[in-house]
Amino acid sequence: MTVTALPSAAARTEQWQCLRERAQDLAATFEARGADGYETGRFVADNIRDLTAAGITAMNVPADLGGFDGSLAETVEIIKTVATGCGSTAFTLAIHLILTGSLRQDIDAKVRERLYTAVRDGAFVIGPFTDEGSGSNWAMPSTVARRVDDGFVLEGVKHFSTGFDAATHLVLTAGLTDEHLEPPFNLAVFLVDKPTDGSVAVARPWAGFAMPMTGSHSLRIADLAVSADDMLFPEGLTPLFFMSRQQWGHYGFSAVFLGLAERAYTLAVEATRGRRNTAVKDLRLMPGVQFAVAQMRSALGTMNALLTEYAERHIDPGEDLTRFVADTCVPKYFVTNEAVRVVTLAMQVVGGSAIRERGRLSQIWRDVTAGPLLPFTNDLAREFIGKAALGIDPIATPRWL
Ligand SMILES: Cc1cc2nc3c(=O)[nH]c(=O)nc-3n(C[C@H](O)[C@H](O)[C@H](O)COP(=O)(O)OP(=O)(O)OC[C@H]3O[C@@H](n4cnc5c(N)ncnc54)[C@H](O)[C@@H]3O)c2cc1C
Repeated sequence: MTVTALPSAAARTEQWQCLRERAQDLAATFEARGADGYETGRFVADNIRDLTAAGITAMNVPADLGGFDGSLAETVEIIKTVATGCGSTAFTLAIHLILTGSLRQDIDAKVRERLYTAVRDGAFVIGPFTDEGSGSNWAMPSTVARRVDDGFVLEGVKHFSTGFDAATHLVLTAGLTDEHLEPPFNLAVFLVDKPTDGSVAVARPWAGFAMPMTGSHSLRIADLAVSADDMLFPEGLTPLFFMSRQQWGHYGFSAVFLGLAERAYTLAVEATRGRRNTAVKDLRLMPGVQFAVAQMRSALGTMNALLTEYAERHIDPGEDLTRFVADTCVPKYFVTNEAVRVVTLAMQVVGGSAIRERGRLSQIWRDVTAGPLLPFTNDLAREFIGKAALGIDPIATPRWL
């Protein structure tokens, strides 16, 4: 195992400043590229390459392996910044950073070193969890892992695999077929080098209405052999390890939609300044415009404060895992739904021109619709939050009687 000297606090602060500035510069580049790529749904391969070259994809490599060891709050800030330039890039990056941020503890030392050495050297990790058969209930996968002498063989169809074209590694979920393990405790997760033998292939190419440049293809997994050493968490315990990492998924996804809403607000304000028509000398003087801008600004202030609070202070799972998961749902639910409202207001402030020109604002309008559909969906988030508040175990069955 490589042992690396830790950077001083001052050096780390400087590195952080550098990462933030690079993310800001790249957001502007990505926005310009999106002007061409969005309508054709061209995958953001160039953007991922730039993020790798800028050291951003490696920001969560642990310090003991020579990395920056980014915190959850720092990860959220970088994702949010990138999202101001391109939702597809930010979402694709978010999955990689969520995985690399949340796998630093609890996994076997050899797999850990394999993963983070690769990420330090430019690897890009994706997480096809959602199965065709089980949707967002990815703790009950329809992809199966059959036990063989030296490991497992995986079969199934992954419904969404964001970033597949850029991936070097896949973190794949599957259900072990052993009879003694009942779902969801048969859930297993494997770190797999992207196969080149056709055992993982695009079954249906992505043609998304929102986030069109994410390359979130459906993948067919056929006869994929994985070693027993590739399993990330102990058999039977994977759902618990997932629950204790839910803060990464929820806050990372929230950051994408907050960044989009921030950019929509700025665009609406910029479009209004200096705008007039034959009836109105200055559109800024209209009360409706002022009120809408005030609503957006207040909503963004609240969303930012909430997400910062959670990303800094609600990160320790503690003893009560289901309550912790319910807690992490709060910013995910609030921010992704509030982001839709902010972007809708921005569209109303700009008016029909926002649609006529197919510009950045109309891209954001499409992208922001994906937020509440991502895990935990609105229904699941409401169920967890509501049941925790009322003292009901959200995973007890039957769930509604
Ligand atoms: C742009 C994009 C990219 C994505 N990329 C990835 C990726 O890279 N990897 C990945 O794993 N996934 C990815 N997803 C999938 C995502 O994580 C969700 O799983 C998915 O959006 C849920 O959609 P579904 O069609 O599977 O819906 P379903 O989960 O089938 O839900 C349909 C409806 O039923 C409700 N419902 C379903 N199950 C329950 C339940 N148990 N209790 C209460 N209500 C329920 C839902 O709330 C919803 O209203 C992506 C999604 C999008 C939109």
